[in-house]
Amino acid sequence: MSAPTMIGLSLPDVDVWSLRVVVALGQNPGLFTGPGTNTYLVGTGPERILVDTGQGVPAYLPVLERALARAGCRIQEIALTHGHPDHLGGVGDLVARFGPLRVSKRPHPGFDAACPVPISPIDDGSRLRCEGATLRAVHTPGHAEDHLCFVLEEEQSLFSGDNVLGVGTTVIPSEGGDLGDYMRSLARLQQEAPRVIYPAHGPKIADGVAKLQEYIDHRNAREREILEALRGGLETIPEIVSRVYAAYPPALHGPARHSVCSHLKKLEREGRVRRDGDVPLDARWKPV
Ligand SMILES: [Zn+2]
Repeated sequence: MSAPTMIGLSLPDVDVWSLRVVVALGQNPGLFTGPGTNTYLVGTGPERILVDTGQGVPAYLPVLERALARAGCRIQEIALTHGHPDHLGGVGDLVARFGPLRVSKRPHPGFDAACPVPISPIDDGSRLRCEGATLRAVHTPGHAEDHLCFVLEEEQSLFSGDNVLGVGTTVIPSEGGDLGDYMRSLARLQQEAPRVIYPAHGPKIADGVAKLQEYIDHRNAREREILEALRGGLETIPEIVSRVYAAYPPALHGPARHSVCSHLKKLEREGRVRRDGDVPLDARWKPV
């Protein structure tokens, strides 16, 4: 899930992004998915790992079949970055088409029931291997509590899931999202110094380290703007959005409220702002 933007961006359905990475586009374009969810066949041999499965739309399976033919491989197993429906939603179709497949993800108690097969639990530091590829999981909460990124050790590249995107900006949902966690996750990913990032939405990112820095700088700048708006006397989230997002189309102002809200909740936890009102989106906010 990404912030709505660049819906018109089109990418090939199947593409080879490196010696070890073939991408198959999930066929679920939309306001929050950009061109659709990228799914990745990873490895070099006849059996490869599939990272993410798309949303479960019928048009995806023929695309994946073409990617498998292009790569000359079968699916060894599935690794999920997280349990949002545009990543996990294709599992049922895949198992129906290809038979039982191991599906690994970080368990998310209370939410994993959406997965139609039992989950093989993995967590920070777990490794999944196939010929030519070692995927190491990095727990990166913030967009979602169960979110894992995967380092492809042979390339020092990164499957970033929804944490870093080729289009748009990562949404920090009010349910299950946490901007403080997200900023720590970006810092953690910086330590991996990825050369290339393969995002869950949008094109390949050629300079992973620079993109991570850009994301961190962007969020820090946004936080400063929100604090300035509060110091200037604005108190409600719609007021702050109108000021901070003045240059953006009104269609983005709805999602921007959630983004501002995640910033304010982070600042509140840090003791830098306080609020009157129980519901964060409706509260009046003041700097401390
Ligand atoms: Zn997501």
